[in-house]
Amino acid sequence: MPIERTLSIIKPDATRRNLTGRVNAMLEAAGLRIIAQKRLHLTTAQAEAFYAVHAARPFYRDLVTFMTSGPVVAQVLEGENAVARNREAMGATDPAKAAPGTIRKELAESIEANSVHGSDSAENAAVEIAFFFAGIEITG
Ligand code: GDP
Repeated sequence: MPIERTLSIIKPDATRRNLTGRVNAMLEAAGLRIIAQKRLHLTTAQAEAFYAVHAARPFYRDLVTFMTSGPVVAQVLEGENAVARNREAMGATDPAKAAPGTIRKELAESIEANSVHGSDSAENAAVEIAFFFAGIEITG
């Protein structure tokens, strides 16, 4: 299986509830290595740019407001099939539909305040990692 990298974000609902360590433990238990990590408070322009792909969706403005409502923790995760492995660890977008043991099932508040973001493809992972990190900040 290929060693991949993916972008993860611990969202404001989770940082507010002091769950960064819990999320990190669940990611590590899933076989993912946190090879870069930083905490930051996104500006509206930054959140709009990151979620530009969702600009036409009805929840876009709410999503941008939520993602700027508090600090986030952006991370690069590395491991075998890291993109799919992280999506599996995260669970379904709607925590009510997420499988038991997943981060969203155990920790998320709602379909919007769902605690974590994870890239959905290797191609998007490369773009999203470059959005947050310079190469010199990633130590594999
Ligand atoms: P993901 O890949 O599982 O994160 O899901 P999407 O790419 O479809 O959506 C991006 C993010 O938008 C989700 O993680 C949620 O935070 C938010 N979101 C998705 N669907 C909805 C919705 O129906 N309502 C609201 N308010 N937010 C949503």
